[in-house]
Amino acid sequence: MSTLITSTQLTARLIEATAATIDAHADLLTGLDQAIGDGDHGLNMKRGFSAIREAAEELAALAPAEALVKAGLILVSKVGGASGPLYGSLLMAMGKSGAARTPDRATVATMFADGVAAVKKRGKAQAGEKTMLEVLVPVLAALSDGVDNDMPLATLLDRIRKAARGGLEASRPLLATKGRASFLGDRSIGHLDPGAQSSCLLVDAICNVIEKDVTQ
Ligand code: ADP
Ligand code: MG
Repeated sequence: MSTLITSTQLTARLIEATAATIDAHADLLTGLDQAIGDGDHGLNMKRGFSAIREAAEELAALAPAEALVKAGLILVSKVGGASGPLYGSLLMAMGKSGAARTPDRATVATMFADGVAAVKKRGKAQAGEKTMLEVLVPVLAALSDGVDNDMPLATLLDRIRKAARGGLEASRPLLATKGRASFLGDRSIGHLDPGAQSSCLLVDAICNVIEKDVTQ
């Protein structure tokens, strides 16, 4: 992947964009979690991404794979809720996976595949259980498909965004069988999953940065 900017700048922009979208949508995430959880998802995500933003300079100076591992550790250590260790596992596994690989698109797809596998393992969950995996799994499918078929970047990003939105909406009719929402049984049906919403927001923010700053 050739970039117009350095990896330091890209890391800094990704951190800023993800922290900003979480800040801007904290109330939305909290509202969704009030409906089917304990109402802390906005606060949890804000705490985690604010801590990453505070470490932005240090993280941006690292190799991208190391920055991912460190950001994941920040989420695990700063976020009390289930989402911290889950997003933390995603980032740490992506970083470990990317460490010894050539930085190209195929590597990004492999890293994300390893990250999603880590979320499944940590949460003992699969897609279809009304969690963040409703978004992460279709995003992975879109990313892998786009990379395998050598799609132009704009098409790839468009498909990834659509996969995220479709996955979020598909979480609504599902019955939650993992996490706090599972305590509600049938009453979890008809609501968007808060973690699927935060994943969708993060995917959108990341796609926007890449669209703007990365060529080819
Ligand atoms: P908590 O549930 O501990 O209050 P949060 O409210 O921050 O933590 O996060 C809730 C979100 O975490 C859910 O909406 C769901 O997307 C995700 N989640 C919870 N448990 C799991 C799991 N076992 N696997 C995957 N995601 C999960
Ligand atoms: Mg919660």
